[in-house]
Amino acid sequence: MAGLFDDDPPPPDPTAPSLFEGAPDAPAKHHAAAYRVLARAYRPLTFADLIGQEAMVRTLRNAFALNRVAHAFMLTGVRGIGKTTTARIIARCLNCIGPDGAGGPTADPCGVCANCRAILADRHPDVIEMDAASRTGVDDAREIIEATRFRPMQARAKVFIIDEVHMLSKNAFNALLKTLEEPPPHVKFIFATTELRKVPVTVLSRCMRFDLRRVPIADLTTRFAEIAERESVPIEPAALDMLARAADGSVRDGLSLLDQAIAQRDDAGPVTATAVAAMLGLADRTLIIDLLEHVLAGAIEPALAITDRAHAHGADFPQLVEDLLGLTHTLTRLKTIPGLRASPDLPEAERVRGAALADRVGMPELARAWQVLLKGVTEVATAPDPRAATDMLLIRLAYLADLPSPADLVRNLTNPESQAAAPSPSAVPAATRADAPSRSRAIAAGGGAISAARQPVIQQATAPDPTPRLTSLRDIATALAASRANPHLHAHLVHSVHLVRLAPGLFEFRPEPDAPRSLAADLGAFLHTHTGQRWTVAISTEPGAPTLAQQADATITARHAAATDHHLVRAILAAFPGATITTVEDKSLDAYGLPTDAPPDGLVFAPDDAMPADEMPELD
Ligand SMILES: [Zn+2]
Repeated sequence: MAGLFDDDPPPPDPTAPSLFEGAPDAPAKHHAAAYRVLARAYRPLTFADLIGQEAMVRTLRNAFALNRVAHAFMLTGVRGIGKTTTARIIARCLNCIGPDGAGGPTADPCGVCANCRAILADRHPDVIEMDAASRTGVDDAREIIEATRFRPMQARAKVFIIDEVHMLSKNAFNALLKTLEEPPPHVKFIFATTELRKVPVTVLSRCMRFDLRRVPIADLTTRFAEIAERESVPIEPAALDMLARAADGSVRDGLSLLDQAIAQRDDAGPVTATAVAAMLGLADRTLIIDLLEHVLAGAIEPALAITDRAHAHGADFPQLVEDLLGLTHTLTRLKTIPGLRASPDLPEAERVRGAALADRVGMPELARAWQVLLKGVTEVATAPDPRAATDMLLIRLAYLADLPSPADLVRNLTNPESQAAAPSPSAVPAATRADAPSRSRAIAAGGGAISAARQPVIQQATAPDPTPRLTSLRDIATALAASRANPHLHAHLVHSVHLVRLAPGLFEFRPEPDAPRSLAADLGAFLHTHTGQRWTVAISTEPGAPTLAQQADATITARHAAATDHHLVRAILAAFPGATITTVEDKSLDAYGLPTDAPPDGLVFAPDDAMPADEMPELD
């Protein structure tokens, strides 16, 4: 394929065709009459001519062979895919009488009998075509129903071909339904629709349904090559490939494009890829690969040099961004499906250079590029200056290439080596700040066995003391969980207890209203068993500290806020508009979702003049 640009851009030549421009003065418009319309000339006349619809053809052939042909057919698929062509072939299959006039319904109509010829020429009185898009009313349906009462004039069956059947009104469908339920034996319906979901299921259920497929690119390429050869038109393989791709699965659309390409060539010269690209407004594929390669490598300068030259040549920037998006999709597929590298559906440039690029780029980078380009398509299409919007988009892509992936970000945030880059003290394990906490602080924190990193400090501090240290609600909850004694009590300790005062032998709290009445007694019993000491457990009317569960909620809310405010996270959110932080995890939090190295909230040592334990009111 010819490259789009020479290294030195040529002086502007207003008459020269450009790869980016559409064809402003397409000769096809002036000379179309000189060419046969290929889509009509090569319209399939038999099932054998239908390409890319093998499944439907096989089913129809079986139906005719077994003489089990339905009364109604529903053909569905995108426009230009061959629905009415198929309907007309079926009409001939139903009515062909063979060259000798004695044949019955057949999957291979002869094409020479009176019925075949009349249907081919669109003048058979018993094959009635109507477009529901223009006739939607109940009167039109009645007209059809009326017509079904008369026997066919020439043919075996009256065939009603109703295109865009989904356009019929509800009443028209209802009127039609009665006939579909008990169709006269000589009547066949062939419906076609682009929007199957709009057809009532009552109608659908009475039809034999066929989904016409988009014809694969390789099949289109082969078909167009055959036709070009029969027309004695030389055509470059790359040009065929572009036409097949632009046809988007429709033989008819592809043939219309081939018509135009043939009309535009110089006399008897070949149809070139350059000319077809210009006609289709396509950028050279090599250029698109160059561009994506640069931005994925974070190389802004060469990328912008390409857009400069594209602009000088009148590039269609929205198309260019769509091509980049398409290439990103192709690269992702090449990465996930290695077998594609041998697929004839891929142009050579993408098979070779695309595969190499797919090998170099990681899946996260491709996923990011896809997201950014997908948004970019709309941005560039609606921007007042599409070229500027394209430049900004490419810069954003190139900048993203330098950013760490989300997975790397998390590693940076949690790795103490990169503390400078991610200054989030709470997320850094306490062990890295071992010099900071004093011995007494370590005891007060009383993280117990929760933090492995801090365990030696705790053991050293508590070793001389035989009594288990229960200096916080969390200590008690941890001890209770470790004892596996009473899971219900543990749950209530976490969710229903507002600690008011805690001292050796004294536990004062305000319960949540829905806490069980036995909570204080159960707690007292556990504390006694666990410490070997007698404890006074008192219910207070003071508000006390938040429950452990509330503290955990507050902690994670704070972490969420800190994460949202972090500069790297802000950069990510800016790069991916619409993105949200769903979950923030802090691996340094303990089993209760609380920081292990901070003094526990709600810890209040009883003052010296506190009421002696034995004077506290006992609870039942
Ligand atoms: Zn025939």
